[in-house]
Amino acid sequence: MWKKEYVEPPKPIFHFGERNSQMSHTRIRVKFSNLNFHLFNYNLIDSPNCQHCDLSETPNHYFLICAQYAQERAEMIDKIRYILQKNNLNDKINLELLVHGSKKLSYISNSKLFNAVHIYIKKTCRNP
Ligand SMILES: [Zn+2]
Repeated sequence: MWKKEYVEPPKPIFHFGERNSQMSHTRIRVKFSNLNFHLFNYNLIDSPNCQHCDLSETPNHYFLICAQYAQERAEMIDKIRYILQKNNLNDKINLELLVHGSKKLSYISNSKLFNAVHIYIKKTCRNP
């Protein structure tokens, strides 16, 4: 007899935002994005490196390191730091926070955080 497997329902926050931004954000979350690191892992391109700085274009590189997006990143980080401060949190702004949000934040605060990430995705025109 088949035992029904429990499947955790998707977090409502993952449905936040405009479709294109939400899709790019989700593709990064499930490790199936247009970032070179992911395309390379699926044997779709010859190099995982970023076109701007010759380092592996991982999600961490794209969101937090690549010098090409320093201005857009500074704006995103400022917004997220403000959200965290408003919630009395001193959490590190890392990939986990950008991609999954925080269990310590309300839906509203997580949606503001995701909005900052979506604006970053749009402004960088990387369409991951
Ligand atoms: Zn780069």
